[in-house]
Amino acid sequence: MTKSEGLFERACKVIPGGVNSPVRAFGSVGQTPRMIASAHGAYMTDEDGNRYLDFVGSWGPMILGHDDPRVREAVVAACADGLSFGAATKREVEMAELICGSIPNVDMVRMVNSGTEAVMSAIRAARGYTGRDKIVKFMGCYHGHSDALLVQAGSGVMTAGIPDSAGVPQGCTKDTLSAIYNDLSSVERLFEEFPDEIAAVIVEPVGANMGVVPPVTVKEQENQTPGYLEGLRSLCTKYGAVLIFDEVITGFRLGFTGAQGYFGVDADLVTYGKIIGAGMPVGAYGGKREIMERVAPVGPVYQAGTLSGNPVAMAAGLAQLTILKEQPEIYEELNKKGQWFFGSLKQIAKETNAPVQVNSCGSLGSVFFTSEPVHDYESAKTSDTGKYADYFRYMLANGVYLAPAQFEAMFLSAAHTREELAEVLELVRKYFK
Ligand SMILES: *Cc1c(COP(=O)(O)O)cnc(C)c1O
Repeated sequence: MTKSEGLFERACKVIPGGVNSPVRAFGSVGQTPRMIASAHGAYMTDEDGNRYLDFVGSWGPMILGHDDPRVREAVVAACADGLSFGAATKREVEMAELICGSIPNVDMVRMVNSGTEAVMSAIRAARGYTGRDKIVKFMGCYHGHSDALLVQAGSGVMTAGIPDSAGVPQGCTKDTLSAIYNDLSSVERLFEEFPDEIAAVIVEPVGANMGVVPPVTVKEQENQTPGYLEGLRSLCTKYGAVLIFDEVITGFRLGFTGAQGYFGVDADLVTYGKIIGAGMPVGAYGGKREIMERVAPVGPVYQAGTLSGNPVAMAAGLAQLTILKEQPEIYEELNKKGQWFFGSLKQIAKETNAPVQVNSCGSLGSVFFTSEPVHDYESAKTSDTGKYADYFRYMLANGVYLAPAQFEAMFLSAAHTREELAEVLELVRKYFK
């Protein structure tokens, strides 16, 4: 038995499924999770001393690679001043100024402790601001595990919320409407049915929790109809609903200004997580001043957090964001690297006649084991998860750590070199052959 297997056996007795977040369990790829002991740069090492080139990057935060010395030093320095005060601090002001000074449409921001909390709070602010209850989300988009958002809505649009998880009362999801990703008409129909009742439309501007599914852009449309995100913007404006971009993955990844800057579409509220904390538990929501001023203590929308804006977490996030802001060439290179790497994967699939689809956007990408183009949840679900599991096991055995599930993204970081990526491409070629 390996050390990872021994630890996992112990874990299963005292932690549900042996893990503190379900996807870590390796259940869908028929493996025992590797217990990670340390990570540096683009590599992780498990308790048995196996080294892996990591394409998960803690699910996004490690955009500079693991254990960036500048981030680590900022954290160590902050620890020396005390771990938490439950009072206002300078770093929180600096963090808010950095975000509001750089991100379009974010006039004010509130720090929280996770992406889940950020989204839950943004929805509350949108409801408080509009005085409306209903929200629209898209099938296949993940917005954290708060009750109202755990809705997948099975077959068809316009079905009012069916809870996706046991333990979520029907009452919590009755105002959650589901629409089809990349399908504006499905959203339009909901607005026509409930013109004065929809508080917000929340979307992952690049779907990254059903595998990577980019939004259809204006350029791709033949008949000059608007792109998907542009269309959501105009529908929200027309019906007085708040457009929320859930940028927990895309924020500070597609570029410093996230999807808003990358696609040139304005949101009213934006949620952050992952990169904003550089690996520490941080989330944030922010947006237009008139909406954010509805939040307590200036407004009637209550939201609070004992450890929100934690000084050590702020130090980590500030250090990472400052580097990203001051060195825009990091994004330029990362996005170029992504285009080359995922483009090469696509080429390899074509050359070897592998029945896969490669989707990507910047440094995010996915290999779907299906012969159908993937543009929404239904098409993503045509993937053969058994085939993905086999591919995953082959890559892991060869020292490449991919997401242990078909419907997750691959995350590239600044620490992945082209040489390392070229080796991965050769491995993939060998596998597809
Ligand atoms: C990860 C994620 C969340 C939830 O963030 P947690 O920090 O895991 O609570 C919300 N939205 C999106 C788009 C995510 O990818």
